[in-house]
Amino acid sequence: MRRIRIQVRGVVQGVGFRPYVFGLAQHHGLAGFVRNEPSGVAIEVEGPEAALDAFVTAMQSAPPPFCRIQELRTYQEAVRGGDGFVVLPSLESGDYLTLVGPDRAPCAECLREFSDPADRRYRYPFINCTHCGPRYTLVTGVPYDRARTTMAAFVMCPACRAEYDDPKNRRFQAEPICCPDCGPQLALRDPSGIQIACDDPVEACLGQIAAGRVAAIKGIGGFHLACDARNPDAVAALRYRKQRDHKPFALMVRDEVVASQVAELSGEELGILCSPERPIVLLRKKVGHGLAEGIAPGQGTFGVMLPYSPLHARLLTGALSTLVMTSGNGSDEPIAFTNDDAYRRLGGIADLFLTHNRDIQVRTDDSVLRCAAGGPRFLRRSRGYAPGTVLLPVSTCTTEVLAVGAELSNTVCLTRAGEACLSQHIGDLSNLAAYESLGATVQSLEAILGVRPAIVACDQHPGYASLRYARSRNLPLVQVQHHHAHIASVLAEKGRTGPVIGVAFDGMGWGDDGTLWGGEFLVCDLSGYERVGRFSPVPQPGGDAAARHPARMAYAYLRAIFGVEANRRAGEWLPGLSKEECSVMAQMMEAGVHAPLTSSVGRLFDAASALLGICLHNTYHAQAPMELEAHAAQARMDAQPALAKISKDAQGLLTVQGSDFLASLLESRSGGISVAQCAARFHGALASTTAEVCRRIRDMRGLECVALSGGVFANALLLETLVAILEQEGFDVLLNERVPANDGGISLGQAAVAAWRCACA
Ligand code: ZN
Ligand code: ZN
Ligand code: FE
Repeated sequence: MRRIRIQVRGVVQGVGFRPYVFGLAQHHGLAGFVRNEPSGVAIEVEGPEAALDAFVTAMQSAPPPFCRIQELRTYQEAVRGGDGFVVLPSLESGDYLTLVGPDRAPCAECLREFSDPADRRYRYPFINCTHCGPRYTLVTGVPYDRARTTMAAFVMCPACRAEYDDPKNRRFQAEPICCPDCGPQLALRDPSGIQIACDDPVEACLGQIAAGRVAAIKGIGGFHLACDARNPDAVAALRYRKQRDHKPFALMVRDEVVASQVAELSGEELGILCSPERPIVLLRKKVGHGLAEGIAPGQGTFGVMLPYSPLHARLLTGALSTLVMTSGNGSDEPIAFTNDDAYRRLGGIADLFLTHNRDIQVRTDDSVLRCAAGGPRFLRRSRGYAPGTVLLPVSTCTTEVLAVGAELSNTVCLTRAGEACLSQHIGDLSNLAAYESLGATVQSLEAILGVRPAIVACDQHPGYASLRYARSRNLPLVQVQHHHAHIASVLAEKGRTGPVIGVAFDGMGWGDDGTLWGGEFLVCDLSGYERVGRFSPVPQPGGDAAARHPARMAYAYLRAIFGVEANRRAGEWLPGLSKEECSVMAQMMEAGVHAPLTSSVGRLFDAASALLGICLHNTYHAQAPMELEAHAAQARMDAQPALAKISKDAQGLLTVQGSDFLASLLESRSGGISVAQCAARFHGALASTTAEVCRRIRDMRGLECVALSGGVFANALLLETLVAILEQEGFDVLLNERVPANDGGISLGQAAVAAWRCACA
């Protein structure tokens, strides 16, 4: 006889790990206990040597579906005798805490019970078990126990209590366990929050949606605004009330069959669509999709998701197979997630509210992915993935780092023992509610991980609200250059430390020289970087305003190309711009006032989109580039694109003449080439020129590995074209796969750089 203690770390709480261990111990006839502890799960087992070995081997080789064992250590203990195996109550304190898993869609077993009229949870919209249901969005503290979730307010009925206490039951210690007798209840309410009497809130709500109304529906991480996707008037009304002119609305469809009726669906896309994380997947629109055109105007894709809560499952099994399910907010605000906030902010948008009395603790948006260049690419990483971790390639760092990200698409990241834990999408920090949720999110990550950071990593931009937050912590600050952080995010998730050729293309990041960067070629590793190439800087007239007005950026480029001729050309190519606007911009650029220099490729895309007359006004982030891509996707790429000029300046910095792309674009357009074909040529020329710069850097530095990151690479056409050329040229190409290439991935890069510098110091 022997007795061993096993300490398990990783994603082991809230995923049915203790019931699994219980079953396994019984199977092998072992005595002992299992217990959740702040540092993970502790197990003690006693029995014959062979049985103990078999027990440990089984745990390592076949853990439960959502559990991820990152570390398993065994220690010898004195034999104590006694028989039977028990689950002990959780310990309250410890060195560090383990992870709370992300929220999951209902599992097959729960869905079966859900649709069985004989089951006591038939059609109950809060059905869940240890394998599925909400987690992160319910948790109010750690260790993970019902008392520290928003289910604490609900007292289990005897039937639920019996399941909860039965180690053989699928709901053994499932903390959010509940049923129609004891759990949360739905209610239909009017926009002032007054309950509307009805037999079945779901049926009543569906009736209203079918009649063209807009409903606010409380989900897992916040409220959605829903309407009938086949009703153009309803979609138009939702757009008008949300003050959202063009930004695409997401769709929720009944199942993969309906998904394939409205969009093209590859095997890879199908897999992601049906995964328990249930993100929104961008899918190519199918001809004859039959949905309202106002859902995604100017786009070649729909954002599609499958039902991810039992309530959604009920909503989508009725007469309506496709609903618009857009986040419950006014334009540019974070989504509403408490009932009171929803009535206040959505009362003028929604005609009715389908809500319930289970609180959402953490605001968590839907995640958004697209498949490109042979893998999933995050546009937004949030519900279903947060607070998942990435193992850093820095195992020697014992200093814990809090990284506070950038400004737009903000996320934060907290490290613990060489692992980086990433928050959900927090949003645009210029919005006060988003800024406040930054602080709340950091607090909750610190509680879940049991970590107090010793260092704060942040961006260099002096105007970022994240920098303000970072300073407020009164801890040593590590400022990481924005584009270095982008490339470091790729290195971190690939377990690399560099050096690599880093290509960082985005809208804007603060450069070391005080100008705006965004078309950068770096030679970098995790500790530092050297800027070896860039797009030629142009003035951005009016600063941030130019980012909202692509026509202004186009004018700046016309001046770079044609000099004093620019105003006449603007009359030809930018009919939306008045003579007065042009002369004000000309003055700003000549005087160098309110016209910061930028090397941004995002702004170059804006200019191209405006010059082709596609988009003159960004009503949402990256509208002009996205619509340019949608046009380009309809045409064929040239075999021999015209490269832009690449020169070396006095300091040896490679410089890509960005205006060349636009000069040849205008030439093509004047020559009668179609808008779509011009847009495709622009993508092709940009990819080929970028690859040529990489070749030159390889020749100079002998580096074979290229990492691509930055928001511009959300563009699938550019990404795939560039990756194909680079791989053909023998480069090893690294891309973001687990965090967004846009600023949502910045916090991971910052954390990796700061941790690496600490480890090397
Ligand atoms: Zn389940
Ligand atoms: Zn119950
Ligand atoms: Fe960026």
